[in-house]
Amino acid sequence: MIQRISRTALLLAAAFWTALPLAAADKPNIVILATGGTIAGSAESQTQAGYTSGQVGVDVLINAVPQLAELANISGEQVANVGSQDMSDAIWLKLADRINALLAKPDVDGIVVTHGTDTLEETAYFLNLVVDSEKPVVLTAAMRPSTAMSADGPLNIFNAVAVAADPEAEDRGVLVVANDDIHGARSFTKTSTTDVQTFQSIEYGLIGVSLYGENRWFREPFRKHTEDSDFSVSGVKSLPRVDVIYITADVSPDLIEAAVKNGAKGIVTAGVGNGNMTGAALEAVRAAVAQGVVVVRSTRVPSGAVGRNVEVKDDEVGTVASGELNPARSRVLLKLALLKTSDPVTIQEYFNTY
Ligand code: ASP
Repeated sequence: MIQRISRTALLLAAAFWTALPLAAADKPNIVILATGGTIAGSAESQTQAGYTSGQVGVDVLINAVPQLAELANISGEQVANVGSQDMSDAIWLKLADRINALLAKPDVDGIVVTHGTDTLEETAYFLNLVVDSEKPVVLTAAMRPSTAMSADGPLNIFNAVAVAADPEAEDRGVLVVANDDIHGARSFTKTSTTDVQTFQSIEYGLIGVSLYGENRWFREPFRKHTEDSDFSVSGVKSLPRVDVIYITADVSPDLIEAAVKNGAKGIVTAGVGNGNMTGAALEAVRAAVAQGVVVVRSTRVPSGAVGRNVEVKDDEVGTVASGELNPARSRVLLKLALLKTSDPVTIQEYFNTY
């Protein structure tokens, strides 16, 4: 009986809601933080390949999608305006601080961050580790500048706001919405330099999809994130230097030596195969470890994990295996881990947990 009454009440409420537009007080409050990227890029014509990222401001992005008002009460702030090739530790720290401050307010329900596609993986994963809230944080981007024919930015922003306004998005970690797909911060990658469908969650699949703002949810993230994360950048003014060294046949080991000489506290190797490298590179890694530098072995291979002690004997060399984290994400986690410790055993635990 109780069930039947409540279902009828729900149906009546639904009929009422669809007949009348939601009053502002009933809509979620979503803040859009703009950082630049192609989504804010402009070109001289609608059809040219060349353009400049980070040209238009957050108000222009919001005004281009008046339908956002159907979904939420929207406000916007400009955190940066760069192509994401220029994303930096300083902007990450500023962004994390602002998101945590906004989400601590009871009248903010979710955040959308507009960003470039180039380093979206890194920013999404960084925020996934340092945002201290289960409220939705959704990053979005575009492959075509705002001035292009069939620009993909406006619908991406619309879907991103629909996801940030959806209570189902809570506690799923930082999400990325692009081209109707909802990706988890840890598991997507940019796969094409130009294709609109550039982002793929190759191994673990999508978290969900958003079709003109209608969301469908498939899965939860399976590693620790946001509210459950042990990492925090509150009060942190800078992050330790971590360099990525790309391993090839006959790679120069002096690249590793140069990173150490120039002050790297951590090194990530983008290894071949299962995080392998030449014997000479491995010798340079041993020397780096002996000097207290933490070395994480990742791989340039796009799928599969780097396992401990497979070909490289991590127990003996003192290295950390990245698991499924690619070199760019490994660098993010190592920077945060180095704020807490330089013990490779503890850092391996972090790589197994996040
Ligand atoms: N270089 C641009 C950026 O990452 C590319 C893009 O946004 O698609 O800002």
